[in-house]
Amino acid sequence: MARKKFVCGNWKMHKTVAESVALVKELKAALVGVAGEVQVAVAPPFTALKPVADALGHGGPIELAAQDVHFEKQGAFTGEVSAPMLADVCCGHCLVGHSERRQLFGETDESVNKKVKALLAAGILPIVCVGETLAQREAGETLAMVGRQVRGGLAGLSAEQIGRLTVAYEPVWAIGTGKTATTAQAQEVHAAIRGLLRELAGGVADSVRIQYGGSVKPENAAELMSQPDVDGALVGGASLKADDFSKIVKGA
Ligand code: PGA
Repeated sequence: MARKKFVCGNWKMHKTVAESVALVKELKAALVGVAGEVQVAVAPPFTALKPVADALGHGGPIELAAQDVHFEKQGAFTGEVSAPMLADVCCGHCLVGHSERRQLFGETDESVNKKVKALLAAGILPIVCVGETLAQREAGETLAMVGRQVRGGLAGLSAEQIGRLTVAYEPVWAIGTGKTATTAQAQEVHAAIRGLLRELAGGVADSVRIQYGGSVKPENAAELMSQPDVDGALVGGASLKADDFSKIVKGA
């Protein structure tokens, strides 16, 4: 089944409002006629979501994503942002379980699962991030680890709900390090994730996009995304420059 490629830029904790708006304006110009063929989203920091939504225009070819969410709808959760609040600023997508959240902020498969459910209930499409550390890869535990994260993060979801999300495979050792998985390493894990999705959701698995992330650059993006089960990219560092990011999208 032909799956439309999906490329998302994860800006992490970078860019002021003015810088964010300037970047999406540049991106819009650079991607005329391309965004549409390829699904494109950007994930600015919370503070820039609304201004970026306004700059992108509703229903435009570049879509808006958040980087995280809290699973409760509202309440006494100082510092948190809920899924309905993200929907309120026109966020169509949201990252969940990024390895930085898992490593630095105590994210677990259980909280990922609650967040996925909260997002789906608010009409936002989750991008569920999974990936092994270098130690786990060297110990031969990659597929077991990723499998555990996928099963845990998607626990209790119906096939229809699984059909609405994206999975991002991001080996932790490749994030921000300049080291990229080889195409064979990426394809092996993506195919295993697809197999697991088939177990969980049957034929729906064929329509779920599985992005690769971890030092994706203009030089390696096209080759990675040419693999049969690599359906796009989650791009960190290289999404901060319009030139690099638009080259990656064009390579999809
Ligand atoms: P990177 O980050 O492209 O800078 O490696 C990817 C990510 O963390 O999503």
